[in-house]
Amino acid sequence: MIEEPKPADYRVGIGTDIHRIVEDKRLMLGGVYIPYPAGLLGHSDGDVALHALIDALLGAAGMGDIGTLFPDTDPQWKNADSKEFLYAVKELLKQKEWEVVNVDLTIHTEAPKLGPVKGQIRRCVAGLLEIDFANTNVKAKTNEGLGEIGAGEAMAATAITLLRKKPKRTL
Ligand code: MG
Repeated sequence: MIEEPKPADYRVGIGTDIHRIVEDKRLMLGGVYIPYPAGLLGHSDGDVALHALIDALLGAAGMGDIGTLFPDTDPQWKNADSKEFLYAVKELLKQKEWEVVNVDLTIHTEAPKLGPVKGQIRRCVAGLLEIDFANTNVKAKTNEGLGEIGAGEAMAATAITLLRKKPKRTL
């Protein structure tokens, strides 16, 4: 029989990140290439959305943070595809028998308008995590012209996720 997971087997996690906008970089958001004349500064591809998501997953599992696992001082992560970070974190979660119940991701940017690509990012995140599209959500918000995000100097992301321990099979 399959035991239903107990309430204590659920964990919630939050992740945030911010990156500076620079001209000489491809814009990657949530694992998707967005055609735009600027991208995000970072040791890796600068995918602020995946970085926030990874920190949410690590936070929920009590496994630290992205900077500890993939330090920006390590040359092996130079220009790294952030999807590789997510694959590695997904493996760690699997080893600890965590499964992702849902994720909710918000990207904060003044431009470009993400309405036309939100669905694509959502599909990409669902695919990367191997969870149902219905269990993912992607939102985009401007900063109403305020601060460095409003001035078009940076993009930020906030992610929240719920994990649960895999139900145990007993004979
Ligand atoms: Mg980052």
